[in-house]
Amino acid sequence: MVSRVIPVDPFDLVIFGGTGDLAQRKILPALFRRYCAGQWNDDVRIIAAARSAHDQAGYRAIVAESLAQHAPRQAADPGNLDGFLNRLQYLRLDASSDDGWENLSGLLTDSRIRAFYFSVGPGLFAPLAEKIRQHGLANEQTRIVVEKPFGHDLDSARALNATLASYFSENQIYRIDHYLGKETVQNLMAVRFGNMLFEPLWNSQYVDHIQITVAETVGVDGREEYYERAGAMRDMVQNHLMQLLCLIAMEPPAKFDSDAVRDEKLKVIRALDPVQPHHIVRGQYSGDPDGPGYREAVGNPRSTTESYVALRAHVSNWRWAGTPFYLRTGKRLVARSSVINVIFKDAPHSIFGAEAGRHANTLSIRLQPNEGITLKVTIKEPGQGGMRLIDVPLDMSFAEALGPENQEAPDAYERLVMDVIRGNQTLFMRGDEVEAAWAWTDPIIAGWQARGDVPKPYDSGSTGPGDAELLMKRDGRHWQGIKP
Ligand code: NAD
Repeated sequence: MVSRVIPVDPFDLVIFGGTGDLAQRKILPALFRRYCAGQWNDDVRIIAAARSAHDQAGYRAIVAESLAQHAPRQAADPGNLDGFLNRLQYLRLDASSDDGWENLSGLLTDSRIRAFYFSVGPGLFAPLAEKIRQHGLANEQTRIVVEKPFGHDLDSARALNATLASYFSENQIYRIDHYLGKETVQNLMAVRFGNMLFEPLWNSQYVDHIQITVAETVGVDGREEYYERAGAMRDMVQNHLMQLLCLIAMEPPAKFDSDAVRDEKLKVIRALDPVQPHHIVRGQYSGDPDGPGYREAVGNPRSTTESYVALRAHVSNWRWAGTPFYLRTGKRLVARSSVINVIFKDAPHSIFGAEAGRHANTLSIRLQPNEGITLKVTIKEPGQGGMRLIDVPLDMSFAEALGPENQEAPDAYERLVMDVIRGNQTLFMRGDEVEAAWAWTDPIIAGWQARGDVPKPYDSGSTGPGDAELLMKRDGRHWQGIKP
């Protein structure tokens, strides 16, 4: 039961950084799967541009290998593979000089949709925008796609927004947060705004608290230099976790269009209280037989960069006053799991007596792995004994509910890249949202620096530092388990 495919209009897509990790692992496989699904056809051209020299056959061979790894089912069909590779062209080009730009200009002659994907380091975003304009490559239908990180603080994000705005209008700029492209994240909006059941309860009167967990088992492998400058706060909280918080907390937009949705998300960020230092825990993983500790990995024995953050946030508005949002994310944790748990309040009075225990409904929205939504409800424990209560899940695992074809439901990049072509910005961050998110995180990071804060060590393979448990315990609550 997968929705029917509506083909997009013909387009030219230029991927700057076409030899890089992101292009090979995510963007090209996503385009390939959409090609195989029939979402676009032979009237499309994909131009991969990067600094290294490759002839067409050599580049296509590299891509064929990536597709075999990242889209194996589709790549097993030689017709699909050849059809896709024939739409690909490689161009040697330097983002920071004029090398190769005339050749690109010679390729882009049609007046159709023209998208430029900046899959390069953030230092090249501004030079690329400038070169596209300087060489007259932007047409009426131009869009640019910008990857994270979008700045490393408010000032740098403002400067980048201002630079991009001097070349492109806001409705041409697509800032990617791939969490927003996940099926369950959109389902979160469908569940909230498509059902009568939840929205009346979606407030501080009925919701005790909300937990947002993004746990990874990997360390900083391969990204040491970037991560040491960023840390979990900049790398995960400022973007992915805050975006999830916004979707949970926002008011219903008047309609599902890009500005209506993003206006509501922005209001949430602006309503966030500053985080008190005692409401935040930083951690850094220690080594174990499976891998080095954080400090060893980044080659800095005195590093104070956090690989884990847990914090308590408050959205100060009528809907959420008094309902805390607990956010946590970390590396080298016990399991890979991204989940949002909405924990409802206990029933105000138990007619079943004290021995029935305390029971609260929990709505779990799992982003990965096993995307799906579970509602825990309280029922009578089966049997002849007294009235004992247990909590059982009403489970909507997408793989089960939607059938085996769901395995082929588009992944985040498939949806987001096609949204770029369709010109739909709903699932992309607007410039003011990004700035507001930095305005909230900057003082937290500045506070750590001013206090010389040192993250607490935690064991690799654990759920994080013990202080994170205390953060909850002090409030009479506890974290839900981190389960794969
Ligand atoms: P990468 O280092 O693997 O690839 C960089 C690409 O840029 C290469 O193709 C390289 O040839 C090209 N390049 C470098 N300098 C150039 C220049 N002067 N002119 C033209 N091309 C040049 O990096 P990546 O991992 O693919 O990441 C790309 C971007 O995506 C970065 O901004 C990164 O932060 C972001 N990102 C990556 C991932 C990921 O999973 N890899 C995830 C999220 C965001």
